[in-house]
Parts: sequence; C-alpha cells; structure tokens
Amino acid sequence: MKIPRVGNGVDVHPLEDGRPMWLAGLHWPDEPAGLSGHSDGDAAAHAICTSLLTAAKLGDLGSNFGTAEPEWAGAAGVALVAEAARRVRAAGFEIGNVTVQIVCNRPRIGVRREEAEKVLSAACDADVSVSAATTDGLGFPGRGEGIVAIATALIY
Ligand code: MG
Repeated sequence: MKIPRVGNGVDVHPLEDGRPMWLAGLHWPDEPAGLSGHSDGDAAAHAICTSLLTAAKLGDLGSNFGTAEPEWAGAAGVALVAEAARRVRAAGFEIGNVTVQIVCNRPRIGVRREEAEKVLSAACDADVSVSAATTDGLGFPGRGEGIVAIATALIY
C-alpha cells in the first residue's frame, strides 16, 4: 500500500518600510512596506517550499537553497517553489495538494486570493490553496513587524 506523506513549513520575514512587497507569488504595489530577507522575502512561497521538501524527506529551504547552493541566492519565491516541486518529483513523488496560510494585518490576501492560488499552483503544477488570518493585534504580526506563513503539502 502506498501511503501518502505530509510536510509542514513555516517561514517568517520582517517588514521593512519602502521595500517592494512580494507575497504569495504576487507583487503588492500599494503596500508601504515589504518583506526583507536574503531573497524577495516571500514567506508564503518559502513555507510552501519547506512543506514540499520535508514531505519528501529532502530537507528544508535552507538545506536546499541556502549557502551551499549560491546560484539560488536572491531567487524569486515562485522560482524556488517550482524547483522544490521538481526535486520532489525527481525523488519519485507526485504532489497532491498544498495549502498555505498567511498571518498578517496587510496586505488583504482575500482580495487577490484566486490570483495567488493561480500563480502558486502554476509554479508547482499542483493545486495550492491560500488562506489568511490575523492575530487580533497580538505579537509581531499583529504589530505589523513581520509576516508568518504556514504551509502543508501532501505528496504520494
Ligand atoms: Mg524565507
């Protein structure tokens, strides 16, 4: 019997005034702050990568695209999702579906949910669903200091 496998991924990036906001594979041009980091800071894309990779026991974002593989430094989040999916399939798995939840005050994910789902699903050639939540003002997402994304992938 073939047993499906799940993987989880979490990523956090700080918000920085004046940076372009890339989140869930989309550019959000009206945002006054963007996510800072080594790359475009797309926490949702990064969480998806880790969920896919760890489901296949291929490690995580850092072990796949970190300092050991400098050619991926600064790569767009969706490019990393596509490559993570390629590696999962190269290891002999197919991808069932992926979900990612973004915890933030803004941007308002719901108004562009379908667009984000389309871009992320195309990147990994599997169904990705996107949801969002706030923390009612609590903690660093509530204070607008950063954004958290949590992903789950099912592979088989
Ligand atoms: Mg990250």
